[in-house]
Amino acid sequence: MPFTPDHHWYDFNLSATKKRGPGLFLDRDGVIIEDRQYISNPEDVAIIPGSHAAIQRFRDAGFRIVIISNQSGIGRGYYGWDEALAVQTRVQELAAQDGIIYDGVVLCPHHPEKGKGEFSKICDWRKPGSGMLTFVIENFDVDLGQSIMVGDKRSDIEAGIAAGIGRLVHVSTGHGQAERLRVKEFENDIEIEFADCLGDLEP
Ligand SMILES: [Mg+2]
Ligand SMILES: [Zn+2]
Repeated sequence: MPFTPDHHWYDFNLSATKKRGPGLFLDRDGVIIEDRQYISNPEDVAIIPGSHAAIQRFRDAGFRIVIISNQSGIGRGYYGWDEALAVQTRVQELAAQDGIIYDGVVLCPHHPEKGKGEFSKICDWRKPGSGMLTFVIENFDVDLGQSIMVGDKRSDIEAGIAAGIGRLVHVSTGHGQAERLRVKEFENDIEIEFADCLGDLEP
């Protein structure tokens, strides 16, 4: 699986990149799986009920399914790429058991203040920056206006706004309840959908 020169990891399903269509961009921790705070053990991966069924509905509707995840636990030195990728592999194994293949995954290990060594960096790929989304958009034939960003943190929504994604959804799972007031601050300027969980979403 490839790394970019600046230490981001990604995995693209190349057969999906040429098909024109919208993207379902998903934060991972707190949206697809329970947010266990800097998860580093594959055994701690727990799918939030309803997530896979919802993803399947979007696949059936022609969406590319993409995970966009800040993993500053790597940069902070809490765990290494081996552990991070073991967790990501587990996420994809559990998805495959339900018939789901992700079209793209992008992980950013950086943190502007807490990152150690090469991971100490103001990185536009780290949400609220839009770099991970832009990287996917450059490599897939994505219909941005029809695309969706789903996150439990304000930074997920900000990244979606910065990338020009048409539909923004804030969920209550993960950090969602704690972050909701800060997300509502955008409401005067931009339409945001509020949902209990990914499982409640329809294409
Ligand atoms: Mg999250
Ligand atoms: Zn980064």
